[in-house]
Amino acid sequence: MSSEKQAAGFSTLAVHSGVEPDPSTGAIMTPVYLTSTYVQDGIGQHKGYEYSRSSNPTRDALEAAFAALERGTHGLAFSSGLAAIDAVLMTLRPGDEVIAGDDLYGGTRRLFTTHYEPLGIRFHFVDTQDTARVADALNEKTRLVWLETPTNPLLRVTDIAAVAALLEGHPARLGVDNTFATPALQNPLTEGADIVMHSVTKYLGGHSDVVMGALMTKDASIDAELRTLQNNVGAIPGPMDCFLVLRGIKTLGIRVRQHCLNGKAIAQWLAEHPKVDKVYWPGFEGFPNHEVAARQMQDFGGMISFTLSDDSLAASRKVCESTRIFALAESLGGVESLIEHPALMTHASVPAEQRAMLGINDSLIRLSCGIEDPEDLIADLDQALNA
Ligand SMILES: *Cc1c(COP(=O)(O)O)cnc(C)c1O
Repeated sequence: MSSEKQAAGFSTLAVHSGVEPDPSTGAIMTPVYLTSTYVQDGIGQHKGYEYSRSSNPTRDALEAAFAALERGTHGLAFSSGLAAIDAVLMTLRPGDEVIAGDDLYGGTRRLFTTHYEPLGIRFHFVDTQDTARVADALNEKTRLVWLETPTNPLLRVTDIAAVAALLEGHPARLGVDNTFATPALQNPLTEGADIVMHSVTKYLGGHSDVVMGALMTKDASIDAELRTLQNNVGAIPGPMDCFLVLRGIKTLGIRVRQHCLNGKAIAQWLAEHPKVDKVYWPGFEGFPNHEVAARQMQDFGGMISFTLSDDSLAASRKVCESTRIFALAESLGGVESLIEHPALMTHASVPAEQRAMLGINDSLIRLSCGIEDPEDLIADLDQALNA
């Protein structure tokens, strides 16, 4: 964003940051630079671009937008959310220790335990809702604390600033997977985190048409380290995907507003429904760490989980298979509403005893509330609950 367009409002940032009119034509939209290489005027005399694994103008625009959205100074785009997390893990060495939430995205936990644990990195999975548990696991070998807040699918909330305060003066970095909250609702860098990560596949892309990941930071040395890894490994998105996400994030502010309105209306309606037992949504007063969520988030988001009074698998399966507007699918954060069964779908790879410990039972249903009209979504859930 040029200095005349400096603004602090989130939607203004989302529409303008990273994007400048094309200098050769004035095109208002960032061109899609479908090129792998760049012609040099003489040896080493180039215009800042040599090869597209290292940098590409369409990706550069997107990375600048990523940095701005998270109130950081540097952004990096990866071919998936997991590739972004992998880049952070690659900064560690055998003997290093990591403290991570015990309710992480399943693929993140799988990457940690099946790939990095055998390489000699030690993971402590703790309930980060309670900062004291993080303090208990912290020692002189800790090099990374990895949080998700709110978590998937139980919407557990961790106090980012409290964990950051705990790490003050300690060499461990604090990384936050901010996929569920989106930068429209929560900015972990402002709360003291060192690295923010997004599965751009979800809300940032917003239209269920791209798989991508992002890392943001305001520390130039962390950026330099991660950028070297990005170039060494090459897990980068292509320019067409970068264009789609640049377009998607222009509407992030208004989309998230509607996701939140729908989430609130549906959570409150579900809480009153006779066939529903428990509703997980951090906006309820009395929800664990509700005050933390109210302080560190602008609003409570569009993700909800709930259980049924009839706690049989047959009952939850019936609801998941009976909606007409909510599509039965994994993933989240798109404009269209989705319903899914965590124990059988997104969290099937989590060991059964771990699922039981966390409360991911056969009755649990997860909703990603889209941006449709809330009355239609509620009517759809009502007919599915009565099916
Ligand atoms: C989807 C997701 C990921 C993984 O991202 P991909 O883009 O699928 O690789 C990581 N964290 C959270 C919270 C997610 O929802």
